[in-house]
Amino acid sequence: MKKSDIYTARSNSLRGARVLVTGASMGIGEQMAYHYARFGARIIITARKESLLQQVADRCLSLGAQEALYIPADMAQHSDPAKVVRFAVDNLGGLDYLVLNHIGSSPFAMWDGDVEHTRWLLQVNFLSYLQMTTAALPVLKQSGGTIVIVSSMLGKMCTPFVAPYTATKFAVNGFFGTIYHELAMQRTNVSLTICTLGLINTESAMEKVRNYTNMTAYPASEAALQIIKAGTTRQRDMFYPWYTFYTTLFRDWFPYYRDLIIQRSFLYEP
Ligand code: NDP
Repeated sequence: MKKSDIYTARSNSLRGARVLVTGASMGIGEQMAYHYARFGARIIITARKESLLQQVADRCLSLGAQEALYIPADMAQHSDPAKVVRFAVDNLGGLDYLVLNHIGSSPFAMWDGDVEHTRWLLQVNFLSYLQMTTAALPVLKQSGGTIVIVSSMLGKMCTPFVAPYTATKFAVNGFFGTIYHELAMQRTNVSLTICTLGLINTESAMEKVRNYTNMTAYPASEAALQIIKAGTTRQRDMFYPWYTFYTTLFRDWFPYYRDLIIQRSFLYEP
């Protein structure tokens, strides 16, 4: 963790901040929970696996969280997203940060025509984000809070093997890009941060891409810290690592070469 990052986040008063992090039993969400804990926040974490959540919550307390509670929930279940927000608001007495990070598991493979899987993934990766945002907005308006959306380069650019996942991330970017404007035009004091991540070395991501690409994967702990920093400083957009910004900027300039590079950067024999 860089000293300047610690200073920036601390100086923006995360101590005692009321934070809800989804998908926090592992990966980037788990790392975000630990960073918020080090900054002395009051944290609620959620995911499906209760035993992992308990371990993460215990570690958050040992790292300095003022409070660390967990609630198991399955975002594929229609009533769970709002239930989680209610749990957080009831236990924290409000909310300052809603960090939407969870994703359902999806194969890294050629599109196989499984529409039902895509429908399920849209509920987990996209519709549950809308449900949680809707449930949390009244309290976020009271606190002048922040919604942090963890998205991906694959919400801005198409690459092979991830059609259902990409569809959900484009949906997330489109929806929350619109909500960003509407919150600003309504002059609410709620800020929205959309995070564009490249390949991050979480266990689940590495397991999927291992046999397909040699792309560098960047550390989950640093990705988590950059997300927190962007939310705390109320940035509209966050890009990590550095190349995601330039790729997004230049992606439509030379489409022929872009597509050639994308297709050649994956190992595949038909
Ligand atoms: P992981 O797969 O490591 O973690 C996903 C989290 O979501 C886990 O805590 C998991 O816990 C939870 N989850 C899975 N299914 C459900 C469900 N049905 N209901 C509730 N929670 C669920 O993901 P990453 O840390 O790799 O990714 C985090 C975010 O970063 C995602 O939004 C992803 O799109 C984004 N991102 C990641 C990249 C990467 O390379 N890693 C690249 C670009 C973006 P449990 O199984 O206990 O439910």
